[in-house]
Amino acid sequence: MERYWMKKAKFMNIFICCAVLAGTILQCYAAKADSVEQERDTGEWWLQKPMRLIQTNLREIDVTLDIDIYMQQINKCEPDVVMINVGGIVANYPTELEYQYRNPRLRGDFIGTLVGRLKAKGIRVIGRFDFSKINETLAAKRPEWLYKGVKGEIVNYNGQVHTCVNGGYQQEYLFKILGEAVDKYPIDGVFFNMIGYQTYDYSMNYHGICQSDACRERFLKLYGLELPTVENPDDEVFRKYQDFRRKTSDDLFRRVKDFIKSKRSDVAVCTYTDAGVDIIRNESNSAFDRPLPEWNYSATDNVRTAMCSWRNKAIGNVAINFPDYRCRHSSVSPYLTELRLVGNMLNDGWLDYCVIGTLENQEDRLVLDNVHDIFGFHAQNEQWLTGTKPVADVALIKGGNRDEYKGLFRILSEEHILFDVISTKAIGRAVTPRPLEDYQVLVLPDIRNMSNAFCARLDAYVKGGGKILATGRTSTCDELGNPLGKVRLKSAGVEATFKVRPHIRGSYLRIRPEDKKLLKDSKLDALDIVYLDSEFLECEAVETTGKLLGYIMPAMFGPPERCYYTQVTDIPGLFYSKFGEGMVAFLPWQIGQHYRNRSHHGHSLLVKAGLEGLLKLERSLVTETSPLVEVNRRVSGDGKFEWLGLINHSGQNGTAFHKSIPIRDVALKLKSKGEVKKVQLLRAGKELKFSTLEDGWIKCIVPQLNRFEIVLYEYE
Ligand SMILES: [Zn+2]
Repeated sequence: MERYWMKKAKFMNIFICCAVLAGTILQCYAAKADSVEQERDTGEWWLQKPMRLIQTNLREIDVTLDIDIYMQQINKCEPDVVMINVGGIVANYPTELEYQYRNPRLRGDFIGTLVGRLKAKGIRVIGRFDFSKINETLAAKRPEWLYKGVKGEIVNYNGQVHTCVNGGYQQEYLFKILGEAVDKYPIDGVFFNMIGYQTYDYSMNYHGICQSDACRERFLKLYGLELPTVENPDDEVFRKYQDFRRKTSDDLFRRVKDFIKSKRSDVAVCTYTDAGVDIIRNESNSAFDRPLPEWNYSATDNVRTAMCSWRNKAIGNVAINFPDYRCRHSSVSPYLTELRLVGNMLNDGWLDYCVIGTLENQEDRLVLDNVHDIFGFHAQNEQWLTGTKPVADVALIKGGNRDEYKGLFRILSEEHILFDVISTKAIGRAVTPRPLEDYQVLVLPDIRNMSNAFCARLDAYVKGGGKILATGRTSTCDELGNPLGKVRLKSAGVEATFKVRPHIRGSYLRIRPEDKKLLKDSKLDALDIVYLDSEFLECEAVETTGKLLGYIMPAMFGPPERCYYTQVTDIPGLFYSKFGEGMVAFLPWQIGQHYRNRSHHGHSLLVKAGLEGLLKLERSLVTETSPLVEVNRRVSGDGKFEWLGLINHSGQNGTAFHKSIPIRDVALKLKSKGEVKKVQLLRAGKELKFSTLEDGWIKCIVPQLNRFEIVLYEYE
């Protein structure tokens, strides 16, 4: 009995052509895992298979393009879906609406012609809209529709004026524009850019929380409060405002969905949220001002979160071609784009690639060979990429401290532990493809915000035999982020109250001989200490809880003659408790953040030993290959095959993404789900010898791994 499918979305990134709204609100949690078993509904076109999507992000000047040449270039990618700019900021069709700015270069019906040509080729079309801004000539007539900054100013950026989410344009007029486009053209989907509450312009000038009358009145009505003017997460009113943002944004998208479906149920709704959408959009992009390192796992992260959290949604995680939205005419390394596309493909996402303008006008086109290559592979191997579902051993929960999450994500990947990612928004709801009980272990990376129901759901999971590895301040805040000063997970095995030791450099944790006996990893024989570089919660164990690692008080670190510590305490850095039939390992500090920042082997080793030694994780895949090999496993819904997806992350050094270096002799031992009759390498295009061991274990060796491989196991 397996369930399926996905979803996700998080935070808000401004870069690009987009914006992501959402957050980590925990909606209604069922006290018990929903037991409704549903297969994925493949009746809708967007759920039939992972699609190949090309987005040509058309500029005003592109409405005069040569459609024959446009089609030639598009066809080289063999796309199932093309996304083009239809309306909102600029209407690329002869709109009859007073408040939609018509492209002054428009001659005839550009959208009508282009949609017709694409559809004649069997390609579906998603129309792109952007309601976050309105042309200044129209804005001047409707000031009540506009965003208002904290100084009372409107924002006019290159003639486009920011609109207010709660104003009449986004709340009402948007429906007129969408209605006109959907009535007029046989488009298959609508995509919205820059949704939600924007506080920056494209030059990254900060304008603050919208203070329009519409926002003020709605916030007052819903929360009985005046709008905050400062985005301060420590301010209770601001936390309520964040809740307001999420709820009103979600509300708008649910209304959009109802409206679109009332017109034509086969039109997909797509944007950067999970609320009310059929196709979640996310981005793997770069930005000059973003702190390094690049998040190499971006595509896997985005797609896996979506597909493991939300059944009956698809995800287009777009590989953005440019290195920064201020350099939209340049491309990132072809090998970075390749990595992003492969990450999408091997995690059941769509292939999704975006350029500014059209494919034929690209001035930095070295990447196009890589794009054609991956899109071509996808087209050739669709049968194996369609209808698969996740079967990982572990679920990493996403929705808290991003650095903590990234560090634990990378540890799991480097250790080749098969893991799904589930958004906190989906926990305990009927929307996840797999119930929590399907997983041997849940990893909670400093997941602070939890409703009481969420805590109860996790405790019930452990009581029934589940296992949790939790870190940092997990469960110490309510669902809005208000700190409660208590560890609320009863299964964590500690008293609720705790004392915070602030982040002071020079402190450590002692790994004692008795700890090593429990952690059971032979590498720990040569490791007695790890450094601590975060805050530390001093918790009290309840009676039956095991206490591991000893906190070492901040020590002198210079000069060398004075560099020794004197105080090793028995304050535990790792708790181990049995609760009901299950177990919990709790590290009351940010071990993932440590690994995210400096990749220290000791931190990684402690997490691995916590999972295997303490929690007795049983792996369904065993391999000794390089940590730079990422592994994913998918099983076909019809029980005919399964595959391991391998991604080779080598070729990267600092900010450079080069061609990956082949990795030889990747030995794989997999506990298969069926009786295997044949093993093939889809990328290398050859059959592989394998041996069958006891208990369904299948052993084989991949002789050479280039950028990626799919090791296909076909059953009898
Ligand atoms: Zn507003």
